[in-house]
Amino acid sequence: MPIFRRQHKGGFTEVKIITFSQGDILEMKKPHPCGASRMRVLRVGSDVRVVCLGCERDMTIPRVKLERAVKRVIMLDDENLSK
Ligand SMILES: [Zn+2]
Repeated sequence: MPIFRRQHKGGFTEVKIITFSQGDILEMKKPHPCGASRMRVLRVGSDVRVVCLGCERDMTIPRVKLERAVKRVIMLDDENLSK
């Protein structure tokens, strides 16, 4: 995952840029109310449509907001998901 340095008064902040694409599984910092913390990306645009792997509810989240809420991206090839 690329890390960018953002310059501001007093120094640098390292900013992780989260990139994901359709079909990726996202692990969220905060779990969904149903208890699952993984979501699958259905559609990527200025808003991102994701579906919770726990309760299968889908939601549309502004990309900027989602990027901050994601802990890591699990590519489909990375591991065999049971679902
Ligand atoms: Zn859920």
